[in-house]
Amino acid sequence: MGLEKKIKQKASELGFDIVGITDASAIGAAHRNLLADWLKDGFAANMNYMHRNFEKRINPAKLLENAESVICLGLNYKPKSRKQNITDKKEPTGKVADYACYEDYHNFIKGQLRNLTEFITSITSQPVKFKICVDSVPLAERALAERAGLGFIGKNRMLINSQLGSQIFLAEIITTLKLKKDKPIMPDSEKNNESRKPVEPGCLNCNRCVDACPTGALRPDGRLDAEKCISYLTIEYKKQIPYEVAGKMGNRLFGCDRCLLACPYQKNAPCCKNDRIKFYPDRMEISLQHILTLNDADFKTEFADSPIKRTGLDALKRNAKICLSNLK
Ligand code: SF4
Ligand code: SF4
Repeated sequence: MGLEKKIKQKASELGFDIVGITDASAIGAAHRNLLADWLKDGFAANMNYMHRNFEKRINPAKLLENAESVICLGLNYKPKSRKQNITDKKEPTGKVADYACYEDYHNFIKGQLRNLTEFITSITSQPVKFKICVDSVPLAERALAERAGLGFIGKNRMLINSQLGSQIFLAEIITTLKLKKDKPIMPDSEKNNESRKPVEPGCLNCNRCVDACPTGALRPDGRLDAEKCISYLTIEYKKQIPYEVAGKMGNRLFGCDRCLLACPYQKNAPCCKNDRIKFYPDRMEISLQHILTLNDADFKTEFADSPIKRTGLDALKRNAKICLSNLK
């Protein structure tokens, strides 16, 4: 069995659903230009970190000296228990994005990636270096995943796999090991095609995610306007949420899945089959009064292993108040 196949088999044993390999060269000009224009036009809102490390973000070789390959991995997180766990509780509740109902995936996936790098080291005869990336490293991970054959980037700006949909945690291992690369599903991903549009032909004439977005954050030109995105505003934005968007948030307490769930590729996607990552059904809908009565210590304890802790208690209470006002 070849090295690439052994790596993919081990990744599958570790619970990843999809694995692809690409080289460590910079992402193509089309993706690079799209990112540069998106930043220039101010659609990253207050995400100033997106403006920093642009060269690293577009070029994995800048993150690891002598990098040769990038192993791109995906873990399907479609919840198993949506129907039976969303109850018609009498008290007002706020919705939490599906990914945040799991334990913090950064920690879980980092552990699995370390296991994978240890395995690769054990089956190679030469010294190999790795850089593990799970969201916290500047890297154009969707463009790389697309080039590694994991799927295509849809109008909802997510990586879409035709079998798994777009509820996928993405992660990467940059390595000095030279591996045979996989072919992208969309041939344009490999070309330096500067005229490529932001949206892949995988969407065909579909527009469901754009129509489903309650705030118009998904623009007709295929770009995301973060200033209007509920996901960004409820998780990363720390100031007062603009009135016009707040009124359209409904009871979204933390994040928003609307454009993901509207996608036809998501509809028949299988549920998460990885039993090692902890899922908390009770977090799918949380009592808004409960959030408003939490103190700092309770918040830290209750959400210690959750991505929800990243937003902080003040922002979560701000969101809860908006949800309550929208439910009146
Ligand atoms: S996450 Fe919600 S608000 Fe943001 S683009 Fe998708 S549907 Fe629109
Ligand atoms: S909902 Fe339609 S347009 Fe949006 S990402 Fe899915 S296939 Fe593409």
